[in-house]
Amino acid sequence: MQSGPEDIAAAVTQLRSGGLVAFPTETVYGLGALALDAHAVAEVFRAKGRPATNPLIVHVVDDAMAQRVCAEWPGVATKLAAEFWPGPLTLVLPKAADLPSIVTANGPTVAVRAPSHPLTLALLEALGEPLVGPSANRSGRVSPTCAAHVRESFPDDTVLILDGGPCVGGIESTVVDLTCEPLCVLRPGLISAAQIAAAIGRDVVSGEPRSDTTDTPTRAPARSPGHIGTHYAPVALARLVDSAELDRALRTLSKDEHAAVLTAQAARVQPPHRAIEMPRDARAYAARLYAALREADALDPSIVLIERPWPNETPTAPPTAPPTAPPTAPPTGVWAAVADRLTRATAQTP
Ligand code: AMP
Ligand code: MG
Repeated sequence: MQSGPEDIAAAVTQLRSGGLVAFPTETVYGLGALALDAHAVAEVFRAKGRPATNPLIVHVVDDAMAQRVCAEWPGVATKLAAEFWPGPLTLVLPKAADLPSIVTANGPTVAVRAPSHPLTLALLEALGEPLVGPSANRSGRVSPTCAAHVRESFPDDTVLILDGGPCVGGIESTVVDLTCEPLCVLRPGLISAAQIAAAIGRDVVSGEPRSDTTDTPTRAPARSPGHIGTHYAPVALARLVDSAELDRALRTLSKDEHAAVLTAQAARVQPPHRAIEMPRDARAYAARLYAALREADALDPSIVLIERPWPNETPTAPPTAPPTAPPTAPPTGVWAAVADRLTRATAQTP
């Protein structure tokens, strides 16, 4: 059952006593604690098994609350907040001196956003102060997109869960660094670099993925720690396959193996393999992805095969194109964010 005002009151009490509250957002569920309480934040790291080198996003109700945790608030932040908040855009800015350094993994910057779920906005309003809110899952695993997913990760009662129904967005927020020139998208999400650039009339570039993993913490905070090799991963071995390769990939499995297949064409998958039907639309795919990966895991498959969902159009090469031009167009917009998560979900594949 979805939570109501009395649950918000209980959540406020729990948070003010240093406890943890999972809250719904339009992206995924967050694991909340008071951002200004270093002990409560430490409890978030402990509960998730999150490396201390991976900073947390601070959730706020509006830009006034955001300015409480930032040392600077440039005009570009005002513009982006006006255009996209509440919504799935996280801004990276210099941190306020009194924000506990555990939040930012000892780094000089803080990531901040206003989520758009009404329950969570009501919670932040009632609290009157910001919350850290990493995804409410064990570190490195698939993010939760409904309250039941959160309970699977935190089965005991120490985490109070506000149930706001399934998340409509389904993948984590876009993270844009406002402390560099040109501005840089560190993690792709539902809001694209092109949309950000259009809103502010400035160039915005996309950051390079990092190659380090959660198991090898570095001393410096990662530029964009969401960009780590293995992340968002199902428990089972997962592999991304071209649609044209799917039948062959299934045939190469041995007799005692069975695959769970995320595909837009469920009819192609015959027993003992099992299909999990995926939407063809990018936003619908993103909203469904993490629940589908969990369903795949629940089938206890030998392997999860994920049919590459974004269009693979061979660009028509202009006559002057060099012979080394890439054969396929890279995914753009929401498909770029989906591609990022799928690449990470399958990164454990040898
Ligand atoms: P999540 O674990 O899904 O809540 O995502 C948190 C992510 O936000 C991190 O893994 C980073 O990618 C990003 N992030 C948080 N704080 C910072 C920061 N100060 N600088 C750059 N990226 C950050
Ligand atoms: Mg996460």
